[in-house]
Amino acid sequence: METHVLGFPRIGRNRELKFALEAHWRGELAAGELEAAARELKQRHWRIQRDAGLDYVAVGDFSLYDQMLDATLMIGAVPGRFSPLAGGPEPDLLFAMARGDAGRGIPALEMTKWFDTNYHYLVPELPSRPDFRPGGHPAVADAGLARELGFTAKAVLIGPFTWIALAKARGEGLDKWSLLPPVLDAYKTTLAQLARHCPIIQVDEPILCTDWLPAGVPSRFASAYGELKAAASGARLMLATYFGALGGSLEPALAAGCDILHLDLKRGPEQLDPVLAALPRNQVLSLGVVDGRNVWKNNFAETLPLVEKAVSSLGGERVMLGTSCSLLHCPVDLEGEDALPEPIRDRLAFAAQKCGELAALRRLAGGGDRCRLAANREILERARAHPDARIEEVGRRCAAATPEMLRRASAIGDRRAAQAWLGLPPFPATTIGSFPQTPEIRRARRDRKRGELSEEGYREAIRKEIGDCVRKQEELGLDVLVHGEAERNDMVEYFGERLKGFCFTQNGWVQSYGSRCVKPPIIHGDVRREGPMTLEWSLYAQSLTRKPVKGMLTGPVTILAWSFVRDDLERSEVCKQIALAIRDEVGDLERAGIRVIQIDEAALREGMPLTAEKAGAYLRWAVDSFRLASSGVADSTQIHTHMCYSEFNAILPWIAEMDADVISVESSRGGMELLDAFDGFNYPGAVGPGVYDIHSPRVPSEEEILGLLEKALKHIDKGLLWVNPDCGLKTRRWSEVMPSLENMMAAARKLRAREA
Ligand code: GLN
Ligand code: ZN
Repeated sequence: METHVLGFPRIGRNRELKFALEAHWRGELAAGELEAAARELKQRHWRIQRDAGLDYVAVGDFSLYDQMLDATLMIGAVPGRFSPLAGGPEPDLLFAMARGDAGRGIPALEMTKWFDTNYHYLVPELPSRPDFRPGGHPAVADAGLARELGFTAKAVLIGPFTWIALAKARGEGLDKWSLLPPVLDAYKTTLAQLARHCPIIQVDEPILCTDWLPAGVPSRFASAYGELKAAASGARLMLATYFGALGGSLEPALAAGCDILHLDLKRGPEQLDPVLAALPRNQVLSLGVVDGRNVWKNNFAETLPLVEKAVSSLGGERVMLGTSCSLLHCPVDLEGEDALPEPIRDRLAFAAQKCGELAALRRLAGGGDRCRLAANREILERARAHPDARIEEVGRRCAAATPEMLRRASAIGDRRAAQAWLGLPPFPATTIGSFPQTPEIRRARRDRKRGELSEEGYREAIRKEIGDCVRKQEELGLDVLVHGEAERNDMVEYFGERLKGFCFTQNGWVQSYGSRCVKPPIIHGDVRREGPMTLEWSLYAQSLTRKPVKGMLTGPVTILAWSFVRDDLERSEVCKQIALAIRDEVGDLERAGIRVIQIDEAALREGMPLTAEKAGAYLRWAVDSFRLASSGVADSTQIHTHMCYSEFNAILPWIAEMDADVISVESSRGGMELLDAFDGFNYPGAVGPGVYDIHSPRVPSEEEILGLLEKALKHIDKGLLWVNPDCGLKTRRWSEVMPSLENMMAAARKLRAREA
């Protein structure tokens, strides 16, 4: 049984790639030096894989920015606006497509989330008549280097169907799928080059685990992959599927006729039996049994029966062991995480450790290493017995949650009268919560962490920021104020640090996009709130103004989506625990007089499973969790929610189901296009479509904002329209925020005068 990983994190255990990239972008590191830093990292990661005992090391999974962008350049789908950079020195075009070229005023490719992960890829753009100019793929040189250094390399590419499916047709009347032949041509060239260096070439088609492919496309797998296989002759082709089960795509996956088929058995264990029954004799099955999406140690006792079943059905030579998907989505190395409590650290495996688990599983399946099996069982049992794993009171509360707790006393339309006491003008204006994170805030946080600032000194610094922020909002004339979130480093981490059941790594970074990384909290035990988390700051802000201050919380679904979640309890159950904790916070805020409360669910949509069938079940428990968190208040208390994405047409009924009095959404970049969805659907609540794009440093003019509001009025009832930016302002500077909000308020006033 051979072993491999689908990909290894490239950022480096100390985020070496991040720092090299950023130095290069600042002009402090030459392209050649950046290359050298990248080469160093690749080799280090190959050594980790080989030393762990894996048969192959992954190459081509490393990218200077994004593996989708690498495929886009290989195919040569370079939008016309980048032509001034064509033929220039090597990484310049790549970085211009990734980040835009400010000097030439060329905007970057759009970025969006990779399936249901928190990784962002660059979306390929297709004009009406694409003119591909295929380039090389970095995997080729890497494969050559790996071979030279004596590694046995398995090359990794994103597959042609996944690439086309995720590309965005910009031009009128383009049928993307008509481009399959030229796209395949580019793949054939690269595959032929790779076949000279690698015994296996892995082609990733996660799209097979979704129901996003149009009818007629799946049947093209057989001939397309037939061509690719011929081009890769000399190497074995592996069709890698992940993030779900093959389900309805089993037939095209098998018909592709690749030498090896890879399955994600973490997300889709149910597919093993049907695949074993149908796998042609000449195909090998790669079992994705080590989770690439999580941080937990593998439960060998659970995994081994799957492996044994496959081996007894196919024979050991026709079985490979791998990670479920690329390890890109988990932190690099547990080594050095000394601050974690021992029993929790014992349960963890990051990318480097997961390589070792694959080798261990192979030995175990071969009948060896029995003491490792016993040790694994013991660790997991000890973890389950840990006092934080099951807190009786939490279990009791979850079980006792009733359907009534998911309902406000009155329907949304009837609650409006009860909220009239707020005395808001027409088109009320507010913000999404955060204000600029100034150098003073960062300094105070850093000094506090280092122990150079006392707790009281830190609080004083935060109070000062809140005071500034409230004063500025009053000057601007906003109607519902916020405290500004100066005390929060991150909207999930802040709550995780205050809830029981969470822990934090020192260095568990995961790439989010380009040089950006996040360090998700780990939910290891039952979640419980020990006391108010935000009350102090909201109350302080309210003490400074007569206008209503909006309490600001992160919702349960978002906290769940942006954390690594324990694997011994259903996600829906963990979400419910978080929801109850947030519900308590909502109750405390309300009792203390904070009667407008926003519960952000930025991640509601991204956590959605990839098939309609699974999405329905998810949306039910996700929306119920939000309602559990938000429904314990009087009719007179106004609940807001915020979501930072614009493509939610398909889930608008579910957003209505959240039953929030006011929702704010991203929309200014799409020119209010998203509001079309509101035409076909009688949305019952108030809506604040973002009219100021906070993702850009640009200051929108009053006319522009007024224009957006007028557009919004075509879709939204004038009694239900709010005025607000797209998202929080924490990444912006005050010098951009003030003039932008002044223009926003001027536009609101004009509209009020006109519509009054
Ligand atoms: N309240 C958060 C903020 O303003 C919301 C951020 C988000 O939606 N991502 O920063
Ligand atoms: Zn947002």
